[in-house]
Amino acid sequence: APAAATARRTRPAMPADAVLINANENPLGPCTAACEAIAAIAHKGGRYDIDGETAKLTTTFAKQNGLKEDYISVYAGSSEPLHFTVLAFTSPTRGFVTADPSYEAGMRAAMIAKAKISKIPLKADYSHDVKAMVAADPNAGVIYICNPNNPTGTLTTKEDIIYALENKPKGSILLVDEAYIHLSDAPNVLDLVAADKDLIVLRTFSKVYGMAGIRCGFAVGRPDLLAKLQPFGQNAMPITGSAAANVSLLDPELVPIRRKIIADTRNDTFEFLKANNYKYIPSHSNCFMIDTGRNGQQVIAAMREKNVFIGRTWPIWPNVVRVSVGTPAEMAKFKTAFKEVMDAPPT
Ligand code: PLP
Repeated sequence: APAAATARRTRPAMPADAVLINANENPLGPCTAACEAIAAIAHKGGRYDIDGETAKLTTTFAKQNGLKEDYISVYAGSSEPLHFTVLAFTSPTRGFVTADPSYEAGMRAAMIAKAKISKIPLKADYSHDVKAMVAADPNAGVIYICNPNNPTGTLTTKEDIIYALENKPKGSILLVDEAYIHLSDAPNVLDLVAADKDLIVLRTFSKVYGMAGIRCGFAVGRPDLLAKLQPFGQNAMPITGSAAANVSLLDPELVPIRRKIIADTRNDTFEFLKANNYKYIPSHSNCFMIDTGRNGQQVIAAMREKNVFIGRTWPIWPNVVRVSVGTPAEMAKFKTAFKEVMDAPPT
C-alpha cells in the first residue's frame, strides 16, 4: 500500500532541561562574530542575496584552500548537494556504494534514483573497507565515503581515497562527505579536487561551526561535475548563512579551540566508559558508538525517560547506540543516566 501522505516532520519542542545528544549538533552554536554578522544583515533579508555575501564566502574559501572559485558551489547546508550528487550520478544502471554503518541520506537519494545499493560493512577496525567498496559494483555511479564516518567517528586514510580514485569503476565519482573533518585528523583531499580528479567533497557549517539551524555548506569539485547538480535546484542562500559562514572562516582560532573543547569532553566520556567496562568505538569526531549488549532501542527509550536524548541504532548493529558529544555538564547528566539504565536489568 502507498505510504500515508504526511507533511514534512518537524522537531517538537523539547523540555527546557533536556540533554540533546542525539543529532551531532554543536551546543556552542555560532561564534560571536557569526552572531553579530547575522544580526547586522538580518534587516536586508528582503533581498535574495545582497552585498555579494555568497560571492565573498566563495572567495574566502577558495583563497584558504588553493581552489579556483568555480570549483565551489555554496548551498544551505550539505544535505542538498549530498542528495543532488546522488540523484545526478546514480540511476537504474549506475549504482550507489556506501559503508555500513554510515550516514544514510545518500542511500535514501539512491533509492529515489532506483539505483542498486551496495552496503559494505566496515572493517574490523571500523574503518571503511575501501578495496571492497570499489570492487562492489562494476557499474557504480557514486562511491560514498564519509570521513570521519557518521556514526562511528572513524577515519579513511588519504592513501585509501587515492586508491579508490585510481581503481573505481569507469564513469563513477567519489563523494567524500567531510561534515566532521574539522574535529579530526582526517586527511584534507581538496588538493585532489584542485588536481581535477573525479570527486566531489562536501563541507558543512553545521558541525564545528555550530550553524546547523543557520544553514550553510559547500560542494567542492570540478566545474563539470558541479554543473550536473544544478538541474536539481539552485535556491538562493539565506544571506544570514553566507555572512555567518564567511566570518567564521576568517577566525583562525575557531576550529582549533572548538576541536579541543569537543575532544576533551569526548575523551573524558571515554574514560568513564572504560572505567565502567562499557564497550565503545574510539571516535575522532563529535559522536561515538556504545555497544550496550542489549536492544539499543530499549536503552534509548530508558534514557529518554531520564530526559537524556541519545542517538539511534543502525540496522546492522541493533545493540549499538550513537551518542553525540554535548557540553561537559550535559555529559555529566549522560553518565549518571547511562549508568542507571545499564545497572537496571534489561526489559
Ligand atoms: N553529512 C553527514 C555525515 C552528516 O552527519 C550530516 C548531518 O548530520 C549531513 C551531511 C548534513 O548536514 P547539513 O545539511 O546540516 O550540512
